[in-house]
Amino acid sequence: YLHNIKSHSELNAFVEVYSAEALQKADIIDRKIKENKAGKLAGLIFGIKDLICYQDHKVSGASKILQNFESQFSATAVEKLLQEDAILIGRQNCDEFGMGSSNENSFYGPVKNALDHNKVAGGSSGGSAVAVQADMCQISLGTDTGGSVRQPAAFCGIVGLKPTYSRISRWGLLAYASSFDSIGIFSKSIEDNARVLEIIAGKDEKDSTSSSRAVPAYSQNLEQKNTYKVAYLQEALDTEALQPEIKAAFQNQITELQEAGHTVEAVNFPLLDYILPTYYILTTAEVSSNLSRYDGIRYGHRSSEVSDLESLYKNSRTEGFGAEARRRIMLGSFVLSADYYDAYFTKAQKARKLIKEATEKILSEYDFIIIPTTPTTAFDLGEHSKSPIEVYMADLFTVQASISGLPAISVPVGKDDNGMPIGLQIISAAFQEAKLFAFSRNLI
Ligand code: GLN
Repeated sequence: YLHNIKSHSELNAFVEVYSAEALQKADIIDRKIKENKAGKLAGLIFGIKDLICYQDHKVSGASKILQNFESQFSATAVEKLLQEDAILIGRQNCDEFGMGSSNENSFYGPVKNALDHNKVAGGSSGGSAVAVQADMCQISLGTDTGGSVRQPAAFCGIVGLKPTYSRISRWGLLAYASSFDSIGIFSKSIEDNARVLEIIAGKDEKDSTSSSRAVPAYSQNLEQKNTYKVAYLQEALDTEALQPEIKAAFQNQITELQEAGHTVEAVNFPLLDYILPTYYILTTAEVSSNLSRYDGIRYGHRSSEVSDLESLYKNSRTEGFGAEARRRIMLGSFVLSADYYDAYFTKAQKARKLIKEATEKILSEYDFIIIPTTPTTAFDLGEHSKSPIEVYMADLFTVQASISGLPAISVPVGKDDNGMPIGLQIISAAFQEAKLFAFSRNLI
């Protein structure tokens, strides 16, 4: 894996590699294996998105503002993997604080797709996706607020899971939009994904929102015993922006599922048009609040052009944040401002509730919702760099599960005419990850 990281350095997937430390750990684990004392994930090589903390190591959110910041503690998910003797190989590139869909908003520069170096990796966890895609590690921990694990997984042709909100502790995850944020898992197989989820899920005293529900042995229940009732959203299939090859692959999936004995039916979801505005109003509001902690005093970058306290805040933040982060802080501050709070923020909260209820209603009648992970396959680097709205469109199909707090997984189901991967997304009711794994295993 270290060799692959080196030979693929042009992909820009890692911002830091823990070579010496990982090799040392490998020796120790080797001994433990011989003595039969090794943990459940002994020798599993994993990487973490640069938004996840690892004790006494740098974590920057791919932002200049935190460039040299070191964390004093590890994220609970990291801690749990290390306890089972997995080996942490490095810190991976991403969009600044998780904001983006193409990994072009990183202080460290864009990540390239290993299948075509002119194409984006997806985002925001682009480095984590490419690291698994190009065998630089077996597993990556990313974060998914509105699709940042599922979307790059689709662009890279691998498996990406966003579990139910609260299933994995958020302790040690740099906050973007706290009521959406979730750690997610990249892997090549469903088995690996299930094995990692069963270790890192569960109640954590350090995150009061983490769920205390028992964690099933996901990897022991991968045999699919049932035929299921599956819904797809007619509006999603009718979306003008949907790339024809993705539509064809999706229709093909429907036929295959029906042939395998599942019931697959179209349902209407007229709220589809509202999910992106709702998501972007609520998440910018949360991010403007969450990023206020980076003030040039307590953490990270401090401007040298300082004449008083206000210029210290202003210049440190202006120099430290990239363009997209600044855009979202302004947008979020606007929708939370006294004059516009009700018109935007309150309204978006109401819309969130409607979207969540409508989605849950479908899932009370069906086992799964299937939907393409993305409207297009990986686009060219720089293609949408002038229009943020165009990039936001890449999230059209992923934010529904995020708004609703539901688990969703993206699995590779084909390729477009240029050989770029196509992802299929499966959404289930809350805490049905076991069912989600068993079902998706047969689709790959
Ligand atoms: N692309 C989405 C955004 O920019 C999702 C990001 C994420 O899930 N972290 O907000």
